[in-house]
Amino acid sequence: MTHNGDTVVETRGLTRRFGAITALDEVSLAVPRGSVFGLVGVNGAGKTTLIKHVLGLLRAQAGSIRVFGLDPVAEPVRVLSRIGYLGEESDLPDWMRVGELLGYLQAFYPTWDEAHAEELRRSFEIDPSAKVKHLSKGQRARVGLLVALAYRPELLLLDEPSSGLDPIVRRDILGAIIRTISEEGRTVLFSSHLLDEVERVSDHVAMIHQGSIVMCGGLDEIRASHLRITIRFDEPQSEPPSTGAALGWKGAGQEWSAICDGQLPRFHQAASEAGARIVEQAAASLDEIFVARVANARLTSDKE
Ligand code: ATP
Repeated sequence: MTHNGDTVVETRGLTRRFGAITALDEVSLAVPRGSVFGLVGVNGAGKTTLIKHVLGLLRAQAGSIRVFGLDPVAEPVRVLSRIGYLGEESDLPDWMRVGELLGYLQAFYPTWDEAHAEELRRSFEIDPSAKVKHLSKGQRARVGLLVALAYRPELLLLDEPSSGLDPIVRRDILGAIIRTISEEGRTVLFSSHLLDEVERVSDHVAMIHQGSIVMCGGLDEIRASHLRITIRFDEPQSEPPSTGAALGWKGAGQEWSAICDGQLPRFHQAASEAGARIVEQAAASLDEIFVARVANARLTSDKE
């Protein structure tokens, strides 16, 4: 695999099985340098498994993964020294005070930015004299994030950064993500099942379901190519028209809404032939697109 410097993480046909479960099924994606890349999927979709491959904690069973053009299993130090990571459970030493922990970590990271660490500590309202074991879950997440950001990594990797956290911590986390990317050339890859959050901060999105990528691309292009179209019939219908251009339908009786992925003329023609008129056409939310894509992937795999 040749490395393109504009791609920070690249997987090709990456596959991982745990016994009978296929956690990743031929996953191919590219995370562009400087992007905020949201990996979205429900619990068990394969997000953590993918992140573990980025960290070199799992070896590719089939296919490949490159991080900064390197194999993370073969070259863990060269890869990990450039990644700031925050997992679902931040693994911090309980017996230390926060200030001691920061001083201790600083010694390990040549690029540790003390002024930035202090700025984050103040904005996250973390007491340096507090013992790690006395921190709440939200405070621990803030410290974990501070540690991941303080040495200004090229790639910030966050696994479900806001799972179970209160909205204020979430806001802090998202604020920190945005600040991080505003610095030239830095990349954020984060997983989440909160689609509104992903939609708010990401510029690239990969939707993963049962180990497969059901959609991947720039958020602007995804938004521009997906519409929610509502149609109305004069008489109630038991089912929506078959247009061949809708990813999914919702509705009943006279009014039905479809998520449509760009084949508009075909959709309009089929709706009009079925005797319906278009009453609304608007951009679909990421949540609506995800639900329609996942349902569609399920239908396709059921047919196979
Ligand atoms: P969550 O949001 O719940 O963490 P996820 O999208 O991160 O979900 P993964 O943790 O990657 O999903 O899990 C994908 C699938 O692989 C699940 O069915 C999970 O049970 C399975 N799996 C993951 N790790 C292992 C393991 N070490 N042994 C067996 N099965 C595993």
